[in-house]
Amino acid sequence: MNKSQLQQHDREHLLHPFTDFSDLGRQGTRVITGAEGAYITDIDGHRMLDGMSGLWCCNLGYSRREISDAIYEQLNTLPFYNSFFQCTTIPSIELADALAEVSPPHMNNVFFTGSGSEANDTNLRIIRRYWDLKEQPEKRIIISRKNAYHGSTIGGASLGGMSGMRKQFQPLDYIEHIQQPYWFGEGGDMSPEEFGIHAARCLDEKIQELGPENVAAFIAEPIQGAGGVVIPPETYWPEVKKILDQYDILLVMDEVIFGFGRTGEWFGADYYGMQPDLMTFAKAVTNGYFPLGGTMVGDRVAEVIKAKGGEFTHGYTYSAHPAACMAGLTTINILRNEKIIDNVRDVTAPYLAKRWAELADHPIVGEARSLGLVGALELVKDKASRARFDDKCTAGGVCRDQSIRNGLVMRATGDTMIIAPPLILTTGQVDELVDKAHRALDDTAKALA
Ligand SMILES: *Cc1c(COP(=O)(O)O)cnc(C)c1O
Repeated sequence: MNKSQLQQHDREHLLHPFTDFSDLGRQGTRVITGAEGAYITDIDGHRMLDGMSGLWCCNLGYSRREISDAIYEQLNTLPFYNSFFQCTTIPSIELADALAEVSPPHMNNVFFTGSGSEANDTNLRIIRRYWDLKEQPEKRIIISRKNAYHGSTIGGASLGGMSGMRKQFQPLDYIEHIQQPYWFGEGGDMSPEEFGIHAARCLDEKIQELGPENVAAFIAEPIQGAGGVVIPPETYWPEVKKILDQYDILLVMDEVIFGFGRTGEWFGADYYGMQPDLMTFAKAVTNGYFPLGGTMVGDRVAEVIKAKGGEFTHGYTYSAHPAACMAGLTTINILRNEKIIDNVRDVTAPYLAKRWAELADHPIVGEARSLGLVGALELVKDKASRARFDDKCTAGGVCRDQSIRNGLVMRATGDTMIIAPPLILTTGQVDELVDKAHRALDDTAKALA
């Protein structure tokens, strides 16, 4: 099939995730046909620096034969066996070991799933099981944050706080949402430090309002990713830690984006010095080469669910799929052997921070923020008042298209442009990324004028 035939068949038969089908009909999909290192190529031969690592998952880029070979060999040795009913497989044991080694010291158990959404559903099951076994069944309510993304199953989407998503299904009724620590959008006249404390105090207020005896857990991404790379002010997490220490409430950190090195530490929890009870992971654990997710379980929870009463009636057919586990194990070994995460912390992240910050001088950029290897640009018509171009977020869409045209994949979340490039980026490629982003901003300003 040629390009237009492919697009036609795509339109006729493929229902895409998070897509406005009428847009798709008008523009036709971009057909991606190849990838190499940090670059992807479309069917027209247009080569782009992938500033989004696929969908936050290909942290080592696209050319790691070790991972695909490991998957292939495993498929030829033992393509599938389950881990139900007292069975196990060697790759799943080895990956569980490796995960316990790279996770914070108090996290030594893992429950495997097929995706991040499933892992958050698993968290809901573990949280309930834990409080039931502790004979505190009244602890049922889970606090999350507005604009959070925790996946797209009913459980994951109920935990999520995006209003557009929540309107399209009936969310679980035991989840409450508080303000997100989004200083640029919601901080008003407060300094970032003041606003960080303010946003954390919202958690305390909510706990008081609900009664601490009814609150089971607080779930949060270390940095809200899909919500627009919302990097909390430095005061936020220490204050949240103080609040959680006061009450007997579990902390779930959703590390699906920040796990496996994106901050320059193994997990966002390490970066922020937090000790979560549960830690969701997926995406980069296999470098995107094979579907796998899971949740790391901290000792205080694991001890209760392992020691006390009866069967935990939960699991998925593909929990601990041997090929997925080989993909995960190989990915972790590459990250360790090649010291990729140290290089992010010591070299690439500081360099990106310096170069990305220069974009703040652009006339249509209200803020340029970054941490580790994520970044965001706030597109504005007026810098001083932070006023947007319009309330339909036209600027974001225009900038994304201009960026792709200039050979850089950036994503738009409303009028916030975001990047999360592969961790293998060189400083030369950081320059390329920033130069292309700059050109995309120039072209956006022209198009909007
Ligand atoms: C992508 C994502 C999920 C969902 O993972 P899937 O594998 O798409 O189900 C959950 N939480 C966060 C923070 C994510 O970014």
